[in-house]
Amino acid sequence: SVKKSGRGGYALFTREMEMQSLERILMENELRKAIELEQFHIHYQPKISFFREEINGMEALVRWQHPELGLISPERFIPLAEDNGFIIQLGEWVMRRSCAQNKKWQQQGLPFLRVSVNVSVKQLMEPDFVTKVETILMETGLESCWLEIEVTESTFVDVDDATSILEEIRSLGIRISIDDFGTGYSSFSYLKQLPVDTLKIDRSFIEDIDTNEESKAIVKAVLTIAETLGMDVIAEGVETREQLAVLHEDGCSQAQGFLFSKPLTEDEFEVYLRNSQRYISKNDVKSEGFN
Ligand code: C2E
Ligand code: MG
Ligand code: MG
Ligand code: MG
Repeated sequence: SVKKSGRGGYALFTREMEMQSLERILMENELRKAIELEQFHIHYQPKISFFREEINGMEALVRWQHPELGLISPERFIPLAEDNGFIIQLGEWVMRRSCAQNKKWQQQGLPFLRVSVNVSVKQLMEPDFVTKVETILMETGLESCWLEIEVTESTFVDVDDATSILEEIRSLGIRISIDDFGTGYSSFSYLKQLPVDTLKIDRSFIEDIDTNEESKAIVKAVLTIAETLGMDVIAEGVETREQLAVLHEDGCSQAQGFLFSKPLTEDEFEVYLRNSQRYISKNDVKSEGFN
C-alpha cells in the first residue's frame, strides 16, 4: 500500500504539472489577445483619510474578464505576464487608461484625486520607462501630481538602479509608494535613502492587528520610522472597525480596504465619488464653523 500511494502521489504530481503548463500556454496565448479584445478592465479602490473620512486617492487594479474562463484574478495572470514580458504592454495600458479616466473625472467636476498605479519591476527597468510615463501624462493631459506609482519593497532589493529611476520619476512630480511594506527585506538604514513618499503596510500585519501584539508592534514601528523620515503611511486591507480603531489609536491616518469599499468599476466609482463629495463638503462646512 505504501508503494501504491507512492506511485499515486507521483502520478498526481505530474498530472498537476501538466495541467499547470497547459493552463500556462493557454493563458499566455489568451493574454496577448486580451488587450485588443478589450477583456481588461480597471477597478478603482478608494484610499481613505480617516480623520474626516474623506477619499484622498484611488488605486487602479486590473481585471481580466475572459469570455469562457470568467473573471481572472491579477494574482494569477500578473506573474505570468511578468515572466513572458507581456507586463510591459499591459502595464502601459493600465497607466494610460487610468490617467485618462482620472482626467475625465476631473473634467466632469468631480473632486481631484490621485490615482495609484502598480508598477512591476520589469516595467520599471525598461530603458524607456520614464519617457513612456511622461508621454502618457502629456497625451492624457493629467498633471503629474495626480499620479502615484506603487512598487513593492523587493524592487529595491532586486535592482541596483531602481533608486535612480524612481528619483527621475519623482522629479517629474509623481509620487511613489512602497507596496506590501514589511514583507520584503529592505533594511531601515537603506530606507532613508529611498525616494519614497508613502509606506503602504502589508495586509498581513493589518489582518490581526487587533489580536496580535507582534503585528501591532510592527505597525507602530513603521509609523515611527515613517514619521522620522517624513513619509506617509497607509494601511492596506482594513476590513473591520476593530482594526481601524487600533490604527487610529496608533496614529495611522490613511487606510484602504473592504471596510470602506471594495475595488469598484469605473461607473460604480463615479457614483461613489459623487455621493462622498456631498459628504465631504458637508464636513468641510462643519469644520469651518459654518452652520
Ligand atoms: P496590491 O497592489 O497589494 O493590491 C491590493 C490587493 O488587495 C488587491 O487585490 C485588492 O483588491 C485587495 N484588497 C483590498 N482591500 C482588501 C481587504 O480589505 N481585504 C482583502 N482580503 N483584500 C483586499 P487584487 O486586485 O486581486 O490585486 C492583487 C495584486 O495584483 C495587487 O496587489 C498587485 O500586486 C497586482 N496588480 C493588480 N493590478 C495590477 C497592475 O495593473 N499592474 C501590476 N503590475 N500589478 C497589479
Ligand atoms: Mg498596490
Ligand atoms: Mg499592496
Ligand atoms: Mg498586496
